[in-house]
Amino acid sequence: MKRLVVGNLKMNLLSPLEREKYFEFFDKESANKELDNIEIVLCPPFVYLEAFKNWAGKKLAVGAQNMFAEMKGSYTGEISPAMVKNAGCDYVILGHSERRRYFLEKNEEINLKVMAALKVGLKPIICVGESQTEKENQATLQVITDQVKECLFGVSRTKMEKIVIAYEPIWAVGTDEVPPANDIMEAKVLIRKILVGMFGRPSAEKVAILYGGSVNARTVEQVCVEPGMDGALVGRESLTPYEFLKIAEIINNY
Ligand code: PEP
Repeated sequence: MKRLVVGNLKMNLLSPLEREKYFEFFDKESANKELDNIEIVLCPPFVYLEAFKNWAGKKLAVGAQNMFAEMKGSYTGEISPAMVKNAGCDYVILGHSERRRYFLEKNEEINLKVMAALKVGLKPIICVGESQTEKENQATLQVITDQVKECLFGVSRTKMEKIVIAYEPIWAVGTDEVPPANDIMEAKVLIRKILVGMFGRPSAEKVAILYGGSVNARTVEQVCVEPGMDGALVGRESLTPYEFLKIAEIINNY
């Protein structure tokens, strides 16, 4: 399995001009880098999906940051899974902690989105992780268990292999705080165990388990390399191609 390095650009790059500058910097910084052991996925806002795909071609994959669970109809303001797929995306981030926090998304709704994504051939990157309070109450492992089981409810064994899980402790997202490598490894082992229980070892082993939350070129060793993660989900640092590609290179080479 190739490791994955996913950039979540969030609600940034405010004009086509900024977007074109991003492409220019990314091309310049990636020109002399050998990144054969990883797949890079960039997840821009919806309005730029096609432009990203046209620019990216085959050199990297494009993903959406969210989508609706229904395929079409009277859902003002929503984006269909089919639209995301037809814009050239291979991936979609689902259940990001910011969606859970600001838009009150629950596991049940995320599960519907997971099923809809799989139906159109999108690979869901499902975010799980505990809040600060849950961590203080020693509820981390229970929270992860519930999120994984409920978000994957009803997924078939064959489709399972398309899933990516990102362990993102909510308190580590956007904060510059990161967990010790051992805690991340413990979360990864737990997630793998749940997947083995639900789908059997051969399918479970094919699922990439990423770490996300304040990943940068200085923390990547501790949060990705040491716990042996299958890649990273990167927020802020993905806005600076120079920094993002430094992270990508480290994950490529370990
Ligand atoms: C994220 O939003 O998924 C994320 C990991 O953000 P950051 O890297 O900025 O903490």
